[in-house]
Amino acid sequence: MDRKEYLRKLTSVNELLQAFTRLQTAAEEIPRQVAVESIRSVVDSVREAIRAARDEMELQKIGTGVEDLLPLVEEEVRERMEKRLRRVINATGVVIHTNLGRSPLPQQALENIAATAGCYANLEFELDTGKRGSRQQLVEGLLCDLTGAEAALVVNNNAAAVLLALSTHARGREVVVSRGQLIEIGGSFRLPEVMEQSGARLVEVGTTNRTRLKDYRAAVGEETAMLMRAHPSNFRVLGFTEETSLREMAALAREQGLILLDDLGSGVLVRLAEYGLPEEPTPMDSLREGADLVTFSGDKLLGGPQSGIVLGRKELVREMSRHPLARAVRPDKLTLAALEAVLRIYLDRERAVREIPTLAMLTLPVEELKRRARRLASALRKACGELDVRVEPSHSFSGGGSLPLAEIPTWVVSVSLPGMSPDELEKRLRGARPPVVVRIRDDRVLLDPRTLLSPDYEDLPRIFSTVASSRGE
Ligand SMILES: *Cc1c(COP(=O)(O)O)cnc(C)c1O
Repeated sequence: MDRKEYLRKLTSVNELLQAFTRLQTAAEEIPRQVAVESIRSVVDSVREAIRAARDEMELQKIGTGVEDLLPLVEEEVRERMEKRLRRVINATGVVIHTNLGRSPLPQQALENIAATAGCYANLEFELDTGKRGSRQQLVEGLLCDLTGAEAALVVNNNAAAVLLALSTHARGREVVVSRGQLIEIGGSFRLPEVMEQSGARLVEVGTTNRTRLKDYRAAVGEETAMLMRAHPSNFRVLGFTEETSLREMAALAREQGLILLDDLGSGVLVRLAEYGLPEEPTPMDSLREGADLVTFSGDKLLGGPQSGIVLGRKELVREMSRHPLARAVRPDKLTLAALEAVLRIYLDRERAVREIPTLAMLTLPVEELKRRARRLASALRKACGELDVRVEPSHSFSGGGSLPLAEIPTWVVSVSLPGMSPDELEKRLRGARPPVVVRIRDDRVLLDPRTLLSPDYEDLPRIFSTVASSRGE
């Protein structure tokens, strides 16, 4: 076996670069750096394969000429040129899917980003007076009108809102929280850790399933600054439970001169129960029941861009906006453009439910889901005869730590492909262009129309047919 001979025959980086550049159309748009790095990586891996070959047979399978390597280079270039952040098709039925970017924005938000991002804008400039303005004033009025709050502040995300509230109002002092509410959200938001960062001391009261008003009262002392309620977003303690109501906590806070902070997580501005979904506490409820400060995410049930929204008493919110951390967690122009557009839709709540994708998906009638599932099923059958396609009842999930236990009835398309395991099918769908993210149940791949957007219906048949025809590979 003559390894050396093969290594000698291996096309050089220079030769390949010349050949690649000669393919003008392909090479024109490709930065030279990308071409060179792709070629190096291909040549390196072929050289590695030659070294690793165990016998003549294996060696013979390795192509070393320009025409062997050029397709590999093109594939490598294509991969390197592809954007890392891409559109994916969410067929999981999890509406607020944190790993898939939570809420898709409504058209109005996209338009407002497009109208203000590629140019200068009055982000911190008062057009009336010509003086320096505040970016917060762009949306504060809207937030107050929509919720009845005295004041509002927008930051980067809800974790930042909680951190800022605690840093401003409880640094070096104690915050009393029920043990049943010490939440962890997707491994990223652990209330005790956020509290530690803020310099506030956590005082846990009660047990995981029961916390009474007298537990809070007993924990209040000289050092206490705040009572805090946290929405136990992604879990529920069921059975024999007892929670102190926000009203009772508010009365205690007032009596003791403490601040009551309510971290709602998902801030929903419409009554979900009117649409057949479980009731979620709204920021309006929290304020009415006596919370001094309420915090929630902009990209969960609100359906807007990633952001954290603080509502509450004027002097408390003002103090937060003057804290040095506020500068570090302030929202950018794109976020505010999207958020303002989304909030404006809420001026008409019925329109909000129709036009904000997150709410529209959650409130889709089950008959409509069945119709969409049937339409998708027949398109898949037509595109790909080998697929075994069924339409079945199932459940969607709200996700994002909202409506934790709600299994929302839906209809799904369930698919299996003879000769391919469901795990393999799932993997190939994930590798498709665009990638498709699915759930697997009972050895079948499920596609939930609840989270499919209209372009997805056009792409899915083509993707399935490509995946099916690649079976042997
Ligand atoms: C989601 C959530 C957070 C974190 O919000 P982000 O916007 O993801 O930073 C904090 N608290 C609760 C109760 C939540 O549900």
